[in-house]
Amino acid sequence: MNDAANPAPQTDQPPQRCGLIAIVGRPNVGKSTLLNALVGQKISITSRKAQTTRHRITGVRTLGESQFVFVDTPGFQTRHGTALNRSLNRTVQGVLADVDVVLFVVEAGRFNLDDAKVLALLPPGKPAVLVANKLDAVTRRQEMLPWLKSMQERHPFAEFVPISARKTDDVERLFKIVAPYLPEQPWLYEPDALTDRSERFLAAELIREKLFRLTGDELPYSVTVVLDKFEEEQSGLRRIAATIVVEREAHKGMIIGEGGHQLKRIASEARQELERLLEAKVFLEIWVKVRSGWADDEAHLRSYGYE
Ligand code: GDP
Repeated sequence: MNDAANPAPQTDQPPQRCGLIAIVGRPNVGKSTLLNALVGQKISITSRKAQTTRHRITGVRTLGESQFVFVDTPGFQTRHGTALNRSLNRTVQGVLADVDVVLFVVEAGRFNLDDAKVLALLPPGKPAVLVANKLDAVTRRQEMLPWLKSMQERHPFAEFVPISARKTDDVERLFKIVAPYLPEQPWLYEPDALTDRSERFLAAELIREKLFRLTGDELPYSVTVVLDKFEEEQSGLRRIAATIVVEREAHKGMIIGEGGHQLKRIASEARQELERLLEAKVFLEIWVKVRSGWADDEAHLRSYGYE
């Protein structure tokens, strides 16, 4: 018998791996930069293969036999003890309980109280990778080793990965380190899927992104965007109405700007980007409303979908 002419079926391929990953850390450590580097800059809307997770997926990347599914964790509010804070923390803990691995991001060589508060939310026994980001900004490299040792004492991290989210090689290395923590199971998504964020969610996110980018850092985190209407007409046109809810009259003024200029710009930029992403005409109306003290009102939090 000639084996070469009659090769055995391939049965020794490595099994598929697929797992949920959360990226957590205090504001400004580079989480969004890292997520963008991991899954690519732009959001594309794709349909999912199966209803597999109750979480919002922010990105999917398939490399070799491994599929990395990144889940959204709402922002971290570590400063105030309001209902918003408690509710967010509960949400975060709920998400973290379900993922396969957590990327805990800090700035290399640093660890402050806000980092500690986020670290305290990691469930015991969950594989956590310490991502020490912004390595390029560290001038005293000799201090990294003692710092890493101190981090080892804070939490039983599975891995320690100093990186710069801006460097492709570092990001590729992170994938290789994380892959073994993904369970062996069939992929949940098509290999070229990027994300399955819903159009509604995307619209609210985009408005929020423009709002914060154009208004600067002065706006508090508690500003939220509520979609009042999202309708698709037969022509494909989307009619969207949104309300930006702020806590103070002063914040409302900042957002609207002189002669409504600022709000117009926010709406116009959000509309243009939405039209590009949805490949459809968009009619967008945005209102600004003051609801003082809403951050302390658990019922309102629920109605805004934060629960
Ligand atoms: P997030 O709030 O945790 O999502 O942080 P961002 O991703 O918005 O990043 C906060 C700031 O850190 C931004 O100005 C980024 O450009 C910057 N940043 C992110 N990653 C790196 C890095 O690897 N090196 C340096 N030097 N800056 C970074």
